[in-house]
Amino acid sequence: MIDFRHVHHNFNGRPALRDCTFHLDKGEVMFLTGPSGAGKSTLIRLLFADLPLQYGTARIAGFELDKIRPGQIPLLRRKVSFIFQDFQRVLLPQDTVYNNIHLPLRVCGIAKQHADRRIQAVTRHLGLHDKLADPCANLSGGEQQRVAVARAFVTNPQVVLADEPTGNLDPELSVRRLLELFKFFQRYGTTMIIATHNPELLRRHPEGRALRLEQGAITRSNWEGAALFNPMAAAFAPTGKN
Ligand code: ADP
Repeated sequence: MIDFRHVHHNFNGRPALRDCTFHLDKGEVMFLTGPSGAGKSTLIRLLFADLPLQYGTARIAGFELDKIRPGQIPLLRRKVSFIFQDFQRVLLPQDTVYNNIHLPLRVCGIAKQHADRRIQAVTRHLGLHDKLADPCANLSGGEQQRVAVARAFVTNPQVVLADEPTGNLDPELSVRRLLELFKFFQRYGTTMIIATHNPELLRRHPEGRALRLEQGAITRSNWEGAALFNPMAAAFAPTGKN
């Protein structure tokens, strides 16, 4: 589903990614960790075709990013959703929560009745169902982030790319609810890459894979599970007994 080979990316002649290679199959979840400035956002933006691929090859959801034409990018974005760190960038503040979540379904040509069922289900899960008629601008930052999360998943995409999705979450949408959503869609075969600093995400999703970036290079990867990647997470991983 995602194949990234020997990818290198420069900004103004300075490397942001160095010779990065990894592969993810359908339905796999990968956590992308590493300090600020390590290249996590760059990797995710390349996969969303938000930056042009400079060196190496990359495939996502059947698109070859080294050969992609500008006209194909909207098609890629019907299959690949992105949860931005600065989620306000994608929301239409004066429009209602319903319209904001409905927008990608309209673009995909999904019938209203079917779209409404999905919107009801996903907003109920995220605790937004009583806000559907409110303009986004009236919502708290955490609620707006939930709208962005709902919008990313409502199209049932092949891939979800998330950049610090827990960055602004309010207590009403705990990490637990977000992970339930990730796990639900993983069962449906959605592939996910989640860039995060939040050890709680790795601890609560110990079967997810993990990749660590430092100064643009992959310094560690653990294909056996995110919990093993982090000694604290391994020690405190849920055992089912407590
Ligand atoms: P992370 O997401 O891990 O914090 P980034 O991918 O945002 O890291 O950044 C990796 C490196 O690339 C950093 O040194 C950052 O300053 C640089 N960088 C990122 N975006 C740009 C840009 N648009 N122009 C110039 N340099 C950039």
